[in-house]
Amino acid sequence: MGFATEGKLWYNLRMSQEWNIRSRGHICSICEKPLVDKAPVVSVLKELPDGYERMDCHPECWKTAQRDWEPFSQWEGVYAAPPPPDAKKEPLKKETADELLRHLITLDDPAMKNVVYVLAVMLERSKILVERDAHEQADHTIIRIYEHRRTGESFVVLDPRLRLENLAEVQQQVVALLSGTKTLGEVSSEESK
Ligand SMILES: [Zn+2]
Repeated sequence: MGFATEGKLWYNLRMSQEWNIRSRGHICSICEKPLVDKAPVVSVLKELPDGYERMDCHPECWKTAQRDWEPFSQWEGVYAAPPPPDAKKEPLKKETADELLRHLITLDDPAMKNVVYVLAVMLERSKILVERDAHEQADHTIIRIYEHRRTGESFVVLDPRLRLENLAEVQQQVVALLSGTKTLGEVSSEESK
């Protein structure tokens, strides 16, 4: 791959970063009436020239609405109304891991793509995220859509198809970031070597 192509790839990847976290709406994107607590909701990502638009809809509205486009991704979940302000917080450690993922996705550093992916997988295994969809790309990397079980945010994460022998090293970097023994800058410069 030449420099020009590689540059363009990173450019596209960077441009898309700010679109890669989408919160769940609280009203139906079609009829604009409130979504119902604990009732099914259809979530949809629509591909735009510069990213994704997210829609959250009553299943009935989604089924009956007319449209002339195909969703990039579509899944059915259960809408949960935002918790009251005095709700008990989750344990600190879990909060830290998903905060780190949000931070890394908005940080927009191509050198961190392996770390972002492994962190998302770790959050999925600890049942904080659920994978909703996956799209294989021409270069065999995969775009995976995760949804945060509690907040309903969707995260668009690139699965770089890590080789197994690199996995342990990346896991150690994630653990070092979570425990504070390494900074983001240190890990980023290790990864871009
Ligand atoms: Zn509706």
